[in-house]
Amino acid sequence: MYDASALPILLKELRLPTMGHLWKSTVQDAEEKGWSYPKFLTTLCDYEVESRNQKRIQTFLKKGNLPYGKTFSTFDFKEIDKLNKPKVDDLAHNTSWITQGENLLIFGPSGVGKTHLAAAIAHSLIEKGVKVLFTSATSLVQKLQIARKNLSLPMTLSKLDQYALLIIDDIGYVRKDEGETHVLFELIAHRYESASLIVTSNQPFSEWDQIFATNSMTVAAIDRLVHHATILEIHSESYRTKQSLKNHLI
Ligand code: ADP
Ligand code: MG
Repeated sequence: MYDASALPILLKELRLPTMGHLWKSTVQDAEEKGWSYPKFLTTLCDYEVESRNQKRIQTFLKKGNLPYGKTFSTFDFKEIDKLNKPKVDDLAHNTSWITQGENLLIFGPSGVGKTHLAAAIAHSLIEKGVKVLFTSATSLVQKLQIARKNLSLPMTLSKLDQYALLIIDDIGYVRKDEGETHVLFELIAHRYESASLIVTSNQPFSEWDQIFATNSMTVAAIDRLVHHATILEIHSESYRTKQSLKNHLI
């Protein structure tokens, strides 16, 4: 019998921990099932790759800042009459729009599920290996304003490039009278055609001049956002209101 005592050390040296854990049981499987050498090696490599993928997904989920529990498993499509479910499924399962730096804009009044939908799509994309950051528009603007004051806005924008998808939740809560919101325009311009955004808003485009400093900046921001974008509009009653009405009727 061949003495394989060096193998665990070699696998450790090569940073292949899952292969290190599983090689013995995989040898057993291979012997029992009469696997060829290539089949054995492929299976062992598959285990390593799969465990790396799982670890990466866990890290992305931890760092993505997604609101807890807002996934498709808790999202009821029946509650939203006219939502294009096949389109939503496509956005959640097909990463090509992310690769192409396209955007998704979700409009609708308060409480209709915009944030939940954005988070659910993001959750599904993370499971496909996409790196996502979820942030409220107001806290993002604050961070960018601080960076601008510290002359580090370009660096902060570049750091956000590590996220193939950035979710800006509730852009309508950003108000130009509360500070310099051109940082938000700079972010949109920076990511244009290179990295994706999901933007949720309870304000239609016609109200966006309350967000950006000047009309021309508003037009330029909308122009860049919609150039390669899917727009979902949720016309429904507030889910929150419906739920509390239901609870009171019971
Ligand atoms: P919005 O962002 O449009 O204001 P939210 O996504 O925050 O609305 O939704 C409000 C609450 O209702 C959240 O707790 C959310 O999970 C829930 N909710 C909204 N729509 C749905 C839905 N279709 N299925 C299940 N829960 C929903
Ligand atoms: Mg919301």
